[in-house]
Amino acid sequence: MKIPFVNLRKQYQSIQNEIDEAIAAVLHECNFILGEEVKLLEEEFAQFCGVKYGVGVSSGTESIHLALRAFDIGPGDEVITAANTFIATVLAISYTGARPVLVDVRSEDYNIDVSKIADAITEKTKAIIPVHLYGQCADMDPIIKIAQRYGLCVIEDACQAHGAEYKGRRAGSMGDAGCFSFYPGKNLGAYGDGGMVITDDEQIADKLRLLRNYGSTRKYYHKSKGLNSRLDTLQAAVLRVKLKYLQGWNIVRRKNAEIYNAQLTKLDDVIIPEEMLHNKHVYHLYVIRVKNRDELFDNLKQKGISVGIHYPVPIHLQEAYKDLGYRKGDFPVTEVLAKEIISLPMCPEINKEQINYISKTIAKSLSVKHILERTPSKVIQLT
Ligand SMILES: *Cc1c(COP(=O)(O)O)cnc(C)c1O
Repeated sequence: MKIPFVNLRKQYQSIQNEIDEAIAAVLHECNFILGEEVKLLEEEFAQFCGVKYGVGVSSGTESIHLALRAFDIGPGDEVITAANTFIATVLAISYTGARPVLVDVRSEDYNIDVSKIADAITEKTKAIIPVHLYGQCADMDPIIKIAQRYGLCVIEDACQAHGAEYKGRRAGSMGDAGCFSFYPGKNLGAYGDGGMVITDDEQIADKLRLLRNYGSTRKYYHKSKGLNSRLDTLQAAVLRVKLKYLQGWNIVRRKNAEIYNAQLTKLDDVIIPEEMLHNKHVYHLYVIRVKNRDELFDNLKQKGISVGIHYPVPIHLQEAYKDLGYRKGDFPVTEVLAKEIISLPMCPEINKEQINYISKTIAKSLSVKHILERTPSKVIQLT
């Protein structure tokens, strides 16, 4: 059995007519840049998240970069984020000229360890970027409290958490701004790159609209040195169709996670993902931990099961970030995770039989190792 990590083709086929019509309508209008679909998606997605404004941008990375710029963060400033994240979070900080400051994560949910944030704050700190990793929100209430105490802004990296909830509030709606990626494989994915910043702050929304479009709202009149970082009308049209299905897809992801959990919790060597109190995890990724990860990774690949590692090398040990001066041992939880985590196939299109097959293959792979470890003593007894 061959099992893909995500199945975008199957998803497209399930909504093909609607998607094809939406794309054809944009082609008919030829309004490719900042067309009506962009505005409508901004309104609809902001409403879905429970905030007032949405500003479509060209990627998730740009959503974080522009959100930081909208809060006037730049050279000389420091921005705190989680050590265990995709590098884009940290790159976006670097683009502004500010310095990224990393904080280790918790071993329960792999999100930023709130108890370690205060130690990382200096006079230069301007913002905290909690990352809602794998589809589960970071512990936002204490983060917001710390931010208020030190006068910092909170910008959520919700690029993996479309529709996730924390105490009934949607990911991206709790901080001063929330940042989303519409990369094709995300829970809400376009057919190319895309992103959005959401906020309740009208001034910030206005600033973002300038920043993404050469610093201009009226053609050829430029208020600031903006960028070209817009969301395409075509992508917005695709996303508007898919947004209607997002909640249903997230429910299926959660059911799939339950099926995995029921199977894998029986295996002593596997740590399954933990859903924290007051959270609604949307399982962008289904990540387990095992001691002999590399062996399991190879075994699953060999059996046709596509798996991933998110992420194999922590930011502070990346060549690109040597200049930050961090060393091995600085973020122990993140470093252990990098060695033990493995992401199993997860999408709304995967079925129960496939999940059972994956779980059985994992059980076999792990028990084979146990038998091998026990073999020498048995061999001695026999001879
Ligand atoms: C995907 C992702 C990003 C970047 O999004 P792009 O659209 O690929 O630029 C940023 N942060 C996290 C946590 C992500 O998963």
